[in-house]
Amino acid sequence: MTKKSVKMEEWNPEDENKPQIQEEPKPKITQSKPETPKEQKPSGIYDVIEGLPTNGKLYPEGIVIRARPLKVTEVKMLAGMTEHTANEIVNDILDRTVQGIPIDDIYSADKLYIMFWLRANTYKESGYNVKFECSKCETESEFAFELDQLNIKTISDETLEFLNKPFKLPNGDIITFSLLTVGDEKQNEEFLKQNKNSLMNFDQEIVALCRMIHTINGEKKGMIDKYMYCTDQLDPSNYSYLESYMEDKGAGLEPTIKVKCTKCGGASETMLPFRPDFFLPRVHV
Ligand SMILES: [Zn+2]
Repeated sequence: MTKKSVKMEEWNPEDENKPQIQEEPKPKITQSKPETPKEQKPSGIYDVIEGLPTNGKLYPEGIVIRARPLKVTEVKMLAGMTEHTANEIVNDILDRTVQGIPIDDIYSADKLYIMFWLRANTYKESGYNVKFECSKCETESEFAFELDQLNIKTISDETLEFLNKPFKLPNGDIITFSLLTVGDEKQNEEFLKQNKNSLMNFDQEIVALCRMIHTINGEKKGMIDKYMYCTDQLDPSNYSYLESYMEDKGAGLEPTIKVKCTKCGGASETMLPFRPDFFLPRVHV
């Protein structure tokens, strides 16, 4: 498995046949829409989510993200997710459980962390074991998942400064960008769906990168133009500089977690256990 396996935005939803290239009219929105009031939820069971990869620093001031533990029906939804339905189910779960921010405004870097937070806070007392292959005793073993096992790439003050600053590619072009949000991911999915049969054969990763770009040499451009820029105007070395720069300035979860084997007690690392049975673990009774 590579880092790619934990990026949920790469999982494609079911596709429809819509052959024409369509530019979605919605411009890139940087910050807060006014929060739409949801139905009254009792506030007592909602806890503040601490330790987000963005550190809450990218959200408008005063935003406090809270969530409540998962309910049985929600755990069942997650346990039934497939590669194709995962994104939709995860977004639905966020919509049900998170308070204090419109879901579309949550940064992708925080999204996966919130899912692990929900898991940890749902099985708070018992933890519930997750299976993995221990590299120390080389048998199938188990660990009890806790949030502090995550390897989190937190956004730094230096990064914050870079996010607000244009940067220069080796070829001299000036780029401004922001990090992806859940709303951006949804727009990307829609874009890929609509252009599924396009001759341009859009690459998901490049589409995601284009969504992050605000301006190129001071000019705001549409998705198709940005895509053409990345694929036609940039040579591979400039493209890879652009991609590395934006990834370096990002935040999120590293693809591995620190685990302690329940059999031999050995400490090792294993891949992030973001899969259906992680949310509804089998318990030894
Ligand atoms: Zn072991």
